[in-house]
Amino acid sequence: MVEPSPSARCWGRGAMAGAGREREEAADYSDISDSEFLDLEEPGDSEQLSSSQNLPGTSTGNPGQETGPPGGPERKRGADVQTPLERLRLRYLWVTDLTSQSWCERQMVFSKELPGLQAPEKAAVMDLGASLHLARELEVHDIMTVPTATAEDSWAIKLLNILTMIPVLQSGGRIREFPVFGEVEGVFLVGVIDELHYTPKGELELTELKTRSRPQLPLAAQKDKDRFQVRLYKYLFDAMVRGQVTPDSLIRHVQLRPEQPLSPQVQDVARKSGFAAAAATLGELAELAFLRLTLSDLPRIDRLQLEYSHQESGAALGAELVAFEERRVRARARDCVAYWKGQREPRGVDVEEAWKCRTCDYAEVCDWRRRGGAVGQEHKAKKPK
Ligand code: SF4
Repeated sequence: MVEPSPSARCWGRGAMAGAGREREEAADYSDISDSEFLDLEEPGDSEQLSSSQNLPGTSTGNPGQETGPPGGPERKRGADVQTPLERLRLRYLWVTDLTSQSWCERQMVFSKELPGLQAPEKAAVMDLGASLHLARELEVHDIMTVPTATAEDSWAIKLLNILTMIPVLQSGGRIREFPVFGEVEGVFLVGVIDELHYTPKGELELTELKTRSRPQLPLAAQKDKDRFQVRLYKYLFDAMVRGQVTPDSLIRHVQLRPEQPLSPQVQDVARKSGFAAAAATLGELAELAFLRLTLSDLPRIDRLQLEYSHQESGAALGAELVAFEERRVRARARDCVAYWKGQREPRGVDVEEAWKCRTCDYAEVCDWRRRGGAVGQEHKAKKPK
């Protein structure tokens, strides 16, 4: 194909501390998973189908993630004011939308509303990361590009990729770019697991590759965001194999048309993949994919691993096992989602993380920074009238 506490062990190079290191870290930061970046295509364009054994891995697109007109994150709310999800016309969120809130929530909002302000160098870093992911993916399976005409076509490709990866996992094989999705705290989340494979002990392990423009492990703030990402992937994957995600939930949240005939190209791929009986509409394909997932007897993910490597040389920088506690993941997701549901304003960085503002593309327009960050907001709130 083509594409989301306490930490345990860490090995590799030690992190360098200090303001210079922090500034570099901020410059190296990109707010999207390399895998998910591969998936950010507009519907009606084309979708990539991976073909591991006989066929696909996955691809996705971002149908439903149309952005509305720009507006400041500080917009005043009234009884008839839309939530951020409504205002940006987002039917679902990417896992990396939530994890980038961990870096700076206001920056994430700016990136949605004012994408033109992002520095071209950062886009280049993301491009390179996506290329490296693609190269790794090609080691596991071939990729086929399928033209898509509708959001239903795009989602059909995701489902076909899932359908073709299930037997690979069942037979103990390795898969890459596995699409995951489901409802988390009332919001539909979509992500792409970088890699799933079994350890020599038979545990199902998720590995997420993070590429770095500098040959150094990230600082704590970036690692924290990466850990949250893989925890969310596990949360979604486990819910899918336990049958807790349904076709109805997907269709309702993403506002898909289950009766919409799939394009001839997508139907052709479905037939060639061995799913001719369910190739006519998205609804049929969704029923089949969720049924197979539920009956597959696939295990939950046992281990989460982050791998860091240097973009230019490809050298491994280190890896880390990530612990998982569902209660904590849900609590953190609830806090993130509260912003999207319009239950609170977006937060900027705390004073001790003001170093992130130095290389932020939105520093010039950021009201949070101008008003002195968290301390300034507190001071302003206490100011007598
Ligand atoms: S300037 Fe600082 S607070 Fe504002 S968006 Fe950027 S990182 Fe966040």
